[in-house]
Amino acid sequence: MQITDSHCHLEQFPNPEVVLAQASAEGVSRVVTMGQDESSMRQALQLAHLFPQVLAGIGIHPVHVVTLSAEQLAASLRFLEDHAAQADQIGETGLDHKWAVDDQQQEAQLRMLERHFEIATQHRLPVNLHSRRCLRQVMDAAIAFHRDTGLHAQLHWFTQSVKLIRQTNAADIFVSAGPSVLYDEQAATVACAIEDHLLLLETDAPVEIGGVPGHPQRVREVLGKLATLKGVTQKQLAQQTEANFLRFLGHAETD
Ligand SMILES: [Zn+2]
Repeated sequence: MQITDSHCHLEQFPNPEVVLAQASAEGVSRVVTMGQDESSMRQALQLAHLFPQVLAGIGIHPVHVVTLSAEQLAASLRFLEDHAAQADQIGETGLDHKWAVDDQQQEAQLRMLERHFEIATQHRLPVNLHSRRCLRQVMDAAIAFHRDTGLHAQLHWFTQSVKLIRQTNAADIFVSAGPSVLYDEQAATVACAIEDHLLLLETDAPVEIGGVPGHPQRVREVLGKLATLKGVTQKQLAQQTEANFLRFLGHAETD
């Protein structure tokens, strides 16, 4: 059984190699590590280079768009532009209105998101999207990106609203569910509303969820919980989500 953690931050662990071995022991044999600024993008590419089971997303996290200095932001964008060809996807990008509190900051995040879409389009890469307190806006942007380019978009940790999931399902947008489904009944209900062929699994590790430190191996628990709720075997759900992941990347022949 092969399972993928489709969104985590491997470079934030003291020893990524140990983390990968532990994850692999739970069947989590593929991990997507997401860059957020110049340093983490650099490390994401290095980890993908060192370990065949690691894929790299590179991008500038929307929180960083409003917290980095102008110089740091410019350097991060230059790094992204110069290295996108080496990445497997573009992200973590998106919008975060918890951190972007005024029009100017929200506009800056939006401009950066649009730049990420341009880079993804240029390199024919899928995008991995963060959204907080502006779920609909990020969803609409993802839908437009997929419609205009045919490239795929993943809404990470987007298990807040069944109403929004009906729209992502209709628009062929991937949504990833993480360990919040283990603790939050509403999140589990929303995750079950994601169409089978659009569901991805993630942890956002090392973010702590439910008082438990984040780890890519926890994808196995997410798989177990959703398989039970859906009334399928873990193996069936693993096969489905792996096929989904390959289609998301643009690797599936039927795509
Ligand atoms: Zn993340």
